[in-house]
Amino acid sequence: MKQQPPVEKVAPGLWCVPTVVPDNPIGWTQSYVIESSQGPFLIDTGWNADAAWDDLAAGLVACGTSVAEVQGIVITHHHPDHLGLVGRVREASGCWVGMHDADTALVTRHRQILADDPEVFHKDTEDKLREAGAGQCDIDEVHAASKTLKMPMPELPDRHLSTQALTLGDRQLNLLHTPGHTPGHLCLRLDGRLLTGDHLLKTISSHVGLYGFEGPDGDPLGDFFASLRLLTGAEPSEVLPAHRGRFHGVDARVAELLEHHEERLADIKEALSGGPVTPWELSRAMTWNRPWDELPRMMLRAALAETMAHVRHLELQGVVVVEPPVSAGAAAHIRLA
Ligand SMILES: [Zn+2]
Ligand SMILES: [Zn+2]
Repeated sequence: MKQQPPVEKVAPGLWCVPTVVPDNPIGWTQSYVIESSQGPFLIDTGWNADAAWDDLAAGLVACGTSVAEVQGIVITHHHPDHLGLVGRVREASGCWVGMHDADTALVTRHRQILADDPEVFHKDTEDKLREAGAGQCDIDEVHAASKTLKMPMPELPDRHLSTQALTLGDRQLNLLHTPGHTPGHLCLRLDGRLLTGDHLLKTISSHVGLYGFEGPDGDPLGDFFASLRLLTGAEPSEVLPAHRGRFHGVDARVAELLEHHEERLADIKEALSGGPVTPWELSRAMTWNRPWDELPRMMLRAALAETMAHVRHLELQGVVVVEPPVSAGAAAHIRLA
C-alpha cells in the first residue's frame, strides 16, 4: 500500500494533513487545516483508527497547533474516511462539527440500523448481491473480503451546513452543495481555491452508486453530472481534493469525467443489445479500472452499486427497464425499453 505524503503548507494559512486509511486501497485521506484569527479549523478528519488519529494529531503539531486548539470541523460528506475521527477531535477540543443535512440524515439512519444489528451491512450486501444474480461463490468471496471491515458507530454533527458563506475567524469559506457521490456532499471555496472532497479527484473517478435509500426517483448519477457542471466556468487557482494530488483545470477534468460516464452508459446499452441480463452480469460487462476478476473483492458491492446508478439514470430517461425478481431467490433483470 502507498505511504501517504507528509504534511504540507499548500497556501498561506492552509495546510494539507494526510491520514492513513488502514487496509483500504484508497490509502489515505487529506484533511485540510485553515489557520484563522480564532484558531485552526479542520476540513474533514480521517478514518476512525488509532493510526489515523496519530497521523492527525502529529499533523496538527506539524502545522504549529494541536488537536485541543481545533475550533470547528467542516465535513465534506459522511463517509467514514472523512467523518470517522470527529468524535475524538470534538472530545479533545470541544469544537463544533458541521455537515449538510442530507448526509446527516444518512448518518442518523446508519446509527439506527447499526444499533439494531451490527451485522446488518454484511447481510444487506449478501441480499443485494443475491438479488443482482451473483452466484454463491462470488457472495462468499465478497463476504470473506469484507468481514474484517469494522463499522464503528458514526458520530452526528452538531451544526447544519448548506450553501452559505461560513466565517471562520478572519477567513471566509463559501460552500457549494454538490450531491452525487453522497446526497449532502459539499465543495468549499477558500481564497480562490476549491476544496473538492471526493466530488472531483485528479486521477480517480468518484464513486457514484445506487444503494437503495434514494427512493424510486433518485438519480445520483444525474445529480453528480449537475454537480460537476456547477463547478465549471469559474476556474479556481488550484483544486484541493481529499484524496491524491492537487491539480489545475476544473473544466478539463469535468469534461473528462462526463465523457467517462457517457462511455459507461454506452457500455450498458451495448451489453443489453443482446437481450436482458442480470445486474451482476451487467456489472461484469462494464469497463473498470482493471479486469473484473482482478478487482479487490471488497469493491464488488461498490461496482454493482455504480453499475446500478448508471442503470437508474437510463431508466429515468426511458432507455432501459428494470424487472424485479419474479420470486424469492430469483434475480432482477435489465433490458432495453
Ligand atoms: Zn467518499
Ligand atoms: Zn473519501
